[in-house]
Amino acid sequence: MISENLQQVKRRIAEAAKRAGRNPSDIRLLAVTKEQSAVTVAEGVRLGMTLLGENKVQEAQDKIETLGRDECEWHFIGRLQKNKVKFIFDLFDLIHSVDSLALAEAIHKKAQTLGSCMPILLQVNISGEKSKLGIDPLKLPKEIHEFAKLEGVKISGLMTIPPFDRNPENSRPYYARLRQLRNTCSNLNIRQINLDELSMGMSNDYEIAIEEGSTLVRVGTGLFGPRPSIGGQTAG
Ligand SMILES: *Cc1c(COP(=O)(O)O)cnc(C)c1O
Repeated sequence: MISENLQQVKRRIAEAAKRAGRNPSDIRLLAVTKEQSAVTVAEGVRLGMTLLGENKVQEAQDKIETLGRDECEWHFIGRLQKNKVKFIFDLFDLIHSVDSLALAEAIHKKAQTLGSCMPILLQVNISGEKSKLGIDPLKLPKEIHEFAKLEGVKISGLMTIPPFDRNPENSRPYYARLRQLRNTCSNLNIRQINLDELSMGMSNDYEIAIEEGSTLVRVGTGLFGPRPSIGGQTAG
């Protein structure tokens, strides 16, 4: 079943890319493995999933211990607490969910002590919902100069989560706005940053996200079916 889902998702990604006049290889599929067992994830890797996304540090740590980092990249997509920052360097290749300057500074500081640099995306709260994390889109063009000063993080793009809506078309304005915000920030020509990546799109709306410029779609239930512990509800 996972195999068929994967083929279908890949096909739909390619079709959406085509509709938008984009090259399908410019869109990467992040398989969201949160709440899935290591056995299920191993099956996904065997089928060719090479990018895996987790939203809890401890859960990721357990799976990465079992599955390793050789065959696949692990991305972090959840709320990152500052006291967990020390763990991320051994686990993840990209953090999608840096939602404040304070968090970026904490990552930068730890990176400096390790002599390393962590690739990150800035999570933007386009919808302005109180329940959602993220940087205020109106403040980003100013604040991005502060992010750019941090040598311990490599800013690679932006990420957003729109309000959940059964109708994927309703996600489109949020994704279009993230792309426009990216363009605005790119046009500032800040030397240290490169905003090529747009992490947007989940199981129910990734095709719309691709039409609006997504480079990283984060698909969980569309690949693995309903998550075991929450009976198929899509978490925001
Ligand atoms: C769970 C999650 C996803 C995947 O959601 P699906 O609807 O299962 O595809 C994507 N992004 C984030 C940030 C998530 O937490």
